[in-house]
Amino acid sequence: MIYPSSEIEISIVVPLYCEESNIDHLFERLLQALIPLKSSYEIVCIDDGSKDNTLLRLIEHHQRNPAIQVVALSRNFGKELALTAGIDYARGQAVIPIDADLQDPPELIIQLVEKWREGYDVVYAKRRTRRGETWLKRFTANAFYRVIGRMSQVPIPADTGDFRLLDRQVVTALQRLPERTRFMKGLFAWVGFRQTYIEYDRAERYSGKTSWNYWKLWNFAVDGITSFSLGPLKVWTYVGLGFSLAAFAYAGFLVIRTLIFGIDLPGYASLMVAVLFLGGVQLLTLGILGEYLGRVYEEVKGRPLYLVRAVYGEAVSKNGAEPLTTSNAVPTLSQGNPPVTHQSE
Ligand code: UDP
Ligand code: MG
Repeated sequence: MIYPSSEIEISIVVPLYCEESNIDHLFERLLQALIPLKSSYEIVCIDDGSKDNTLLRLIEHHQRNPAIQVVALSRNFGKELALTAGIDYARGQAVIPIDADLQDPPELIIQLVEKWREGYDVVYAKRRTRRGETWLKRFTANAFYRVIGRMSQVPIPADTGDFRLLDRQVVTALQRLPERTRFMKGLFAWVGFRQTYIEYDRAERYSGKTSWNYWKLWNFAVDGITSFSLGPLKVWTYVGLGFSLAAFAYAGFLVIRTLIFGIDLPGYASLMVAVLFLGGVQLLTLGILGEYLGRVYEEVKGRPLYLVRAVYGEAVSKNGAEPLTTSNAVPTLSQGNPPVTHQSE
């Protein structure tokens, strides 16, 4: 059943990157979980330039069930941007992003929706435990949430992923944030509104493996911190001030000592230590300036956040992003890479 846009109550948004092996199970559980809601829904799937048959699988599902909408990005843009695209294309009164690997149990959707019906605008799902993750990942994740919690000007809830419910009002607010570095957890927090949470135990990945590694996670953390705090940039004023004062005092001490005791030469070691230490601090500062400057550069270029290659279904972007080309060809399974298409019933 296809509903006119205004009638869709719930939009589920799923970013997918090479999740071929999870798709059947995902829809099975998702559709099952949506029945008790007794409301109209759509499932907006964003294929984030997958290299496997994810897109073709999605199109098959769309053909069987038109409530499944498929938006194919032109390449891999990363989860945050795929999610942004999905939120732009969602038409429901409430939008629920969820991971394709079933780490966020779809059975919780009903609880999210209940809270929403009670009048909350944002209902996030907080992880009580994380299964299937190494202690190192848990430790680093914990450390990250603590650091960003202290540094950020808006409180970013710890141990929440992107699995949450957003009211249409909040979605509209999110779409007014044009920034490229989209640290979604932070943006969700930044917009405010009436927020509440439910708790759950995070499951293991159903199949496949995570596309994150520590280098990506580190960059993600740096993105998060630089987008939500000017702390790393400002702290150098005080570090510099501290060093200047210390240097000034030391200079005074040297002058007086020389006046009283005359000149002596040794001092190579302390000189080297001071030079190397300050050199190190300066390089670090430059690096941090570079982090911010690089991000300013990215923002100033003003490129679109993502490009859509094809849309299968009714979904239209609320944010003006249209597929690059439109035609009516439907890719067949034998084709490795589907052509540019825009298909709608
Ligand atoms: N994902 C994506 N683009 C990417 C990487 C991941 O759309 O470049 C999707 C992925 O298919 C999954 C979700 O983002 O639905 C979460 O990814 P993953 O399970 O790898 O992350 P983790 O659960 O480890 O945070
Ligand atoms: Mg996952």
